[in-house]
Amino acid sequence: MLTEPLPSKLELRKLALRGADVEGAVAVTDLSRLQSLLATSEGYIDAHCKLYRDEEDRYLISVAVKAELVVSCQRCLEPIRISVVTDSTLCMIAGEEQMGSLPESLEPLILEDGTADLRSVVEDELLLGLPIVSYHDSGPCADLVEKYYTAAEPDELESQPNPFAVLEQLKND
Ligand SMILES: [Zn+2]
Repeated sequence: MLTEPLPSKLELRKLALRGADVEGAVAVTDLSRLQSLLATSEGYIDAHCKLYRDEEDRYLISVAVKAELVVSCQRCLEPIRISVVTDSTLCMIAGEEQMGSLPESLEPLILEDGTADLRSVVEDELLLGLPIVSYHDSGPCADLVEKYYTAAEPDELESQPNPFAVLEQLKND
């Protein structure tokens, strides 16, 4: 867990020229779009950014994010702590018109006056990396499901018509 906060506005292009590394923590409460999807604002977000130029003189930023966040379990609606890890490389561009020239492996990062808000880059990464649904995989919530399925299984299977038998029937008719 990092203690220093991630600087938000930096001269990203200049940092890429000298191959700088930037890292720091981001508070969940600073990322309002992400926070709206979470159960609480507990947890942490660490970001490691590597800024550099590639052999084609593109300005790149590799963003690795490691976070622990609290979302609601979609089964019992109680809070559940999840880990999210993302790793992407973005290419700094000056405007949308440059987007077409990027290879598919690179995501665009549009700069304004040579800079962009790193926290919002981290937020985008987390929004993409967040699982669509989360469930407890142990504890009372998970035990309940196990009980339900083992109890329901035998009868349920027998009462379901076999789809192949139905097809067979149709053929015979
Ligand atoms: Zn649950």
